[in-house]
Amino acid sequence: MAKQKQVRVQDISGLINQLYPVALAEEWDNVGLQLGDPAAVVDRVLVCLDVEEKTIAYAEEVGAQLVLSHHPLIYRPLKKIVPGDGAGKAIFRALRQGIAVVSAHTNLDRAKEGLNDWLAARLGLQQTVPLEQSVGDLLKLVVFVPLGHEEAVLEAIFTAGAGVAGNYDRCSFRTRGTGSFRGNAATSPFIGHPEEVTETEELRIETIFPAALATKVVAKLQKAHPYEEVAFDLYPLANQRSDVGLGRIGVLEKPLDLPAFANQVKQALGVEHLRLAGQCAGLVKKVAVCGGSGASLISNALRTGADCLVTGDIKYHDAQRARAEGLALIDAGHFGTEILMVQQLSAKLKRTLADQQWSLEIIEMSGEEDPFSWI
Ligand SMILES: [Zn+2]
Repeated sequence: MAKQKQVRVQDISGLINQLYPVALAEEWDNVGLQLGDPAAVVDRVLVCLDVEEKTIAYAEEVGAQLVLSHHPLIYRPLKKIVPGDGAGKAIFRALRQGIAVVSAHTNLDRAKEGLNDWLAARLGLQQTVPLEQSVGDLLKLVVFVPLGHEEAVLEAIFTAGAGVAGNYDRCSFRTRGTGSFRGNAATSPFIGHPEEVTETEELRIETIFPAALATKVVAKLQKAHPYEEVAFDLYPLANQRSDVGLGRIGVLEKPLDLPAFANQVKQALGVEHLRLAGQCAGLVKKVAVCGGSGASLISNALRTGADCLVTGDIKYHDAQRARAEGLALIDAGHFGTEILMVQQLSAKLKRTLADQQWSLEIIEMSGEEDPFSWI
């Protein structure tokens, strides 16, 4: 059996950043490592929605050294940390027990195979796309490669994750031209001689990759390229991405009337009650979703022709607007539309870890409850 890698807190926050890039998070958000020593060793991770004192107690019970939450432990600026208030209780206990906390919040909402993809799939939506597309976190790589070495360089950067565009991979473009250089006496150039100007035929190769992969792609590039000094450029791109963004919109395989669809939502999410507002013209076919608080996406839902928006935290005036503009709104609760992330993120991590020699156990938090109850 292959030797397993000892995992540290920083390895896990690095893995989360690869799966759910920090660049996708809202500017006001606070994602990533919240608390703890990046170098501390971890062999058990507890996945949860919220971090409260009881979460840290549960982590102690199951022997987890890292808590991975959706809602950040440190969110609004903390003016003091005392054991008497909510966040303070959890922080005190986590620090005493040496338990680290990492959070993936709006980056998990926006990412591919993130919370909103899971919610859309749970509600049976097909052909889903983001309800609001995000400017991505893509970088363009341009590298100059001597003729004959292009395949080795491309293979290396493709293996590191470059060149993926939607359902296409190994995407690149190349043009031929002349490169020139002169090394000083300390060099041993791959082509030509020190202290002589050399001109050689090179290919300008272009491709793209998500910013989170930059370190990996550049390291592979440097290794596969034959030159001592590799000439390459990285450009940030302002392109919108079709695979990441807030919310999702898709279609039901079989259109339903609103009460039947509402019942299906209740069953799929395991919620006892939900609130309905507005009404759509006919059957519900095109459905928009946004886990948590998605009222800000009402305009997007209307613009994209959704019959119904399923989200949480709907306020009075949102409901009034939906009624006036012919959109059905289903409020299945903030908790009700997000708690599925515990199971889904755990499963995703287990699948990801199956390919790596990491000695790490993923545990789902149990017993989390909606702070609201119905009487
Ligand atoms: Zn939330």
